[in-house]
Amino acid sequence: MPQKKRIMLRKSLATGWLLLFMSYSPDNHSSEGSFSHGHGAHVHGSASLRIVLDNNLLFIEFDSPAFNLVGFEHEPANEAQKSALLTVKQALDSAELLFRFTPTRCRREKSDIEVPYIAEHYENHPRSYQHDHVDIHANYVFQCARAEKLKTISVNLFTYFPGIQEIRVQWIFENRQGVAILTADNPGLKFD
Ligand SMILES: [Zn+2]
Repeated sequence: MPQKKRIMLRKSLATGWLLLFMSYSPDNHSSEGSFSHGHGAHVHGSASLRIVLDNNLLFIEFDSPAFNLVGFEHEPANEAQKSALLTVKQALDSAELLFRFTPTRCRREKSDIEVPYIAEHYENHPRSYQHDHVDIHANYVFQCARAEKLKTISVNLFTYFPGIQEIRVQWIFENRQGVAILTADNPGLKFD
């Protein structure tokens, strides 16, 4: 398939994927002490993963309060805090360390990491971060060799970010869907 056509196909898949979640998301509730940020409740200690498998393409969307990953959410006050944000961005970009797939192999095709205060976007739109809480987002697209064989995803985020106590997962796997809560003691997402 020509490259251009493939990219367009991916784009339309990704759009379908987002629509799927918009109709499916249970986020339309608010609980005390939490802060809704479009992707769900902002609760320190808790992060979320949305996972969609569509043919051989696996989409993973990660959202977390910045607090879980760097320990603060305000604008960086010094060089150390600025570099902490950069380090998190690099770590999230190392998708092959963060997710392990068994028994099939999935290769990262694309990732898009959004960390507050260091993006170019922020230089141009500093006002967009003027609230008390900020999130960190990461989107990944993997290409799996034999997606139908995928049984488990080991999520290593707890190892790299001890501030994450739980990850709430929503997944759609062909015509099945489910939810799970992962913890450091139970970091494996099983599809069977
Ligand atoms: Zn917060």
